[in-house]
Amino acid sequence: MSGTESADVGACDLCGVAIGDVDWGADELRVEVSREEDGELRFWVADFCTQEHAAEWLRRPLPEADDPSPGQQPSPWRDRLETSGCFAVFAVVLVLLALGGWTAARLLLDWF
Ligand SMILES: [Zn+2]
Repeated sequence: MSGTESADVGACDLCGVAIGDVDWGADELRVEVSREEDGELRFWVADFCTQEHAAEWLRRPLPEADDPSPGQQPSPWRDRLETSGCFAVFAVVLVLLALGGWTAARLLLDWF
């Protein structure tokens, strides 16, 4: 964590000062940085009290990337499980449709 715990009352990611305290947030600056690392898109959202602090922060090596959606981030394996679950249901429906169609076709063929 890099000091972005409270989204409403932002604090400068560099000096930690509450942003609203400096000229009522007149100089507040939000920076969103995205970069692809190891085939994964990572991004950072940081707030600063002044542009100078944003520039200073950007000059440094980037910290650990922010979670895409903190608090409700589904774990990758669960995501995969849900995806494969959906696919399994879809496959079963397809098989049932095929079976139903085949049975109906055979019935029709028997009748005529
Ligand atoms: Zn600052």
